[in-house]
Amino acid sequence: MQDCLFCKIIQKKIPARIIHEDDDLLAFEDINPQAPVHILVIPKKHIPTSLDIGPQDHALVGKLFQAAAAIATERGIAERGFRLVMNTNAEAGQTVFHIHLHMLGGRLMQWPPG
Ligand code: AMP
Ligand code: ZN
Repeated sequence: MQDCLFCKIIQKKIPARIIHEDDDLLAFEDINPQAPVHILVIPKKHIPTSLDIGPQDHALVGKLFQAAAAIATERGIAERGFRLVMNTNAEAGQTVFHIHLHMLGGRLMQWPPG
């Protein structure tokens, strides 16, 4: 997708602090962290929102969650706890329309979220 910020990061046209890459996924540090650990995990496939996930994406979305959990373990926050978030559309605050799992941790989280 030509005008997608995260597709540009995947294509290395925009720099990011990449912490994991494989054939299907990319994980990188959020540029504006909301917690001591704030990592975005994205599929290389351009999917605009969670509403656009189809049956053909089931394995990919599973990998997204597994990678985020593995990174939480690597960062040493798995036992304490962490939060996985996928914002969808305006009222949830989605600003980048290429699905991404926020992996947040390293501090006590509030519930309900703001
Ligand atoms: P959302 O608001 O759920 O769509 O999340 C988009 C996230 O992307 C925000 O947390 C931003 O801080 C983050 N972000 C925006 N631009 C960049 C960038 N160039 N590199 C890393 N993270 C970014
Ligand atoms: Zn994209």
